[in-house]
Amino acid sequence: MTINGQEFIRRFEAYCPQWLAEEGDPVGLHIGTLDKPVNNIMMTLDVRPEVVQEAIDKKVDLIVAKHPPIFRPIKRLTADDPQNAMYLELVKHNIAVYAAHTNMDIIWDGLNDWFCEMLGVAVDGYMTQTHVEGLKKLVVYVPEADAERMRQALGEAGAGEQGNYHHTSFSSNGQGRFTPNGKAKPAIGKLEQATIVSETRIEVLFPERRQEQVLQAMFAAHPYEEPAFDLFSLDNSPITYGIGRVGNLSEPMAIEDFCQLVKAVFELDGLRLVQPAVGAKNMVQRIAICGGSGGNFYQDALKNQADVYLTGDVYYHTAHDMQAHGLTVIDPGHNIERVCIPRFVEKMEAWKEELGWEVTFIPSVTNTNPFQYR
Ligand SMILES: [Zn+2]
Repeated sequence: MTINGQEFIRRFEAYCPQWLAEEGDPVGLHIGTLDKPVNNIMMTLDVRPEVVQEAIDKKVDLIVAKHPPIFRPIKRLTADDPQNAMYLELVKHNIAVYAAHTNMDIIWDGLNDWFCEMLGVAVDGYMTQTHVEGLKKLVVYVPEADAERMRQALGEAGAGEQGNYHHTSFSSNGQGRFTPNGKAKPAIGKLEQATIVSETRIEVLFPERRQEQVLQAMFAAHPYEEPAFDLFSLDNSPITYGIGRVGNLSEPMAIEDFCQLVKAVFELDGLRLVQPAVGAKNMVQRIAICGGSGGNFYQDALKNQADVYLTGDVYYHTAHDMQAHGLTVIDPGHNIERVCIPRFVEKMEAWKEELGWEVTFIPSVTNTNPFQYR
């Protein structure tokens, strides 16, 4: 089944919603329309003229980018500016561009978790909290014969995921009563006759962001013309989200060895190390990570007692402040974020399999790192 861009993004946002982005971060659709069939979807870290050429050559319909291509407002759309010429090329070739930026840094099982996994860091939390999400409860009544199908449908829509468990629910049986009027089209019973049906009451919990898809699944799996259900907001502990991650290496490691590990894992020719002048640590175990440009969050690395903070784009004077506060920092460069490309393609392939999509996912192979080491 060929899919529409909107359908793809609906699944994408069920995993990585826009509301998890930092305030003012221009995430979402940047160029073109999602209301069109998409056969080829390309994942990239950056949208650069060379990436756009790659997309044109590979007949891409939609680019999903980590970095929003229109980050600064534009005042003119003329072809004599290389950045604007790139936007015009995208429009000319009907290539839509969608960006997931800081929401990808914040979402659980997102970019910072993948960095930790690659470095062997067991995550125990985020550096600083950014968002809180409440829980909801759906109670739905279905004929007993349809109960199992309903439980499956709700589970597939993401209801009933708690910690390491999925498809969790509670069921109890009872009697439903109704009388269809003359205009009804009842699945069970006759018009104007009081009907009693053995029904199952199914209860499931889900995070607020999944409400739309859970209700859609419930309506689709329910045999009744007028499904009976209750939806509750809960005061249970909410789900919390934050930027960056902190965690521990399985055992202490010499800082020199950790630097070599970072270089090997991210295939780097070099990295920058900031060490305090006094009290530099030789051995490190507790690691804070905020990929991209996380210099401003170094206080959170200190609060979390990190032995070393790994982040890109560290500014000269910020590095002085970090030194003065006794923090060891590794700056591997912003481009290590390119690891999101294969990880995202892997996720998208799983959705394709699960939903029977006919679509090709293309990891961009253009190198967008502007820096070289000599
Ligand atoms: Zn970035």
